[in-house]
Amino acid sequence: MGSRAERVAVGVDLGGTNLTGLLVSDRGTVAGRELRATPAALGAEAVLGAVLDVASGLAGQARELGHEIAGVGLGIPGPVDADRGVCLFSPNLGWRDLDVISRFREVFNVPVRIDNDVRAATLGEAWLGAGHPYRTFVCLTVGTGIGSGLVLDGRLWRGPGYSAGELGHIPVVDGPDAPPCGCGRRGCLEAVASGTAIGREGRRAASRGEPTSLARLPAEDITARVVAEHARAGDATAARVLRRAAVYLGLGIATAVNLLNPEAVIVGGRVSRSWDLIQPEVTRVVSEKGFPPNLLFLRGVFPAELGEDAGAIGAASLVLGPGGGAVSR
Ligand SMILES: [Zn+2]
Repeated sequence: MGSRAERVAVGVDLGGTNLTGLLVSDRGTVAGRELRATPAALGAEAVLGAVLDVASGLAGQARELGHEIAGVGLGIPGPVDADRGVCLFSPNLGWRDLDVISRFREVFNVPVRIDNDVRAATLGEAWLGAGHPYRTFVCLTVGTGIGSGLVLDGRLWRGPGYSAGELGHIPVVDGPDAPPCGCGRRGCLEAVASGTAIGREGRRAASRGEPTSLARLPAEDITARVVAEHARAGDATAARVLRRAAVYLGLGIATAVNLLNPEAVIVGGRVSRSWDLIQPEVTRVVSEKGFPPNLLFLRGVFPAELGEDAGAIGAASLVLGPGGGAVSR
């Protein structure tokens, strides 16, 4: 923590489970941090109250340290109208058409910006993480679901309805056996390659009586993290479940490569903690399915670098101006 006065922003990443608030300087240093559980079960107002509380606490810290506060940025799961500052729909938080900006303006007299959480994480990686060297890249977060953010020619791409780049919902499996997706369709990438899908396939393999160490666990304990642990310990079934998800992830990434001609694809989210286990299949599929001219420009598929902080750092960059990364927001 520096003692010199700096220009800082409050960045908050609002997840369905956790709320991460950071005080980020325009040089990219973290000057303060606050973490707490998202009170999603208590309803929409309780969640908003917790966000305002975390942001106010960090702003208070900034003032005590003598910093200049450039503004407050917030990343929210679900589609966000970043221009009007309205959260269009966030099922996990119980928010629908919520005018977040107006509520913040009642508390803060500094600029406030909001955006989708994965786009915020993409901005974070663009500024201080794995996306930094590139003007065109795709950032995927693979966790409970699959989200993505697009930086095209140095610009964050949102789309007219603020839902461009829903790579988690590109179709990769057809037919009646295609697993259902949270979006209401079947066979989306998210339904076969997310952490949720990996856990489900692990439970299914164990219940079929396959010779796997997963079968020794109660079904509800078999999550993507547990499947990865068992794969790492040499369990062939767990390794196969993970490989299958990695193949689908590779197909999704190859689709993005062929469509957008990115210089890099960055993979974050909790599943990327098992990057060493999924990377070989992802790389193989991308190199086999990628359009050759596009592969010439692709520097690689890389793990994200900022971990859990990416979203809050990117949210802070929304209000830090040109100092907060080179991507135009
Ligand atoms: Zn879907």
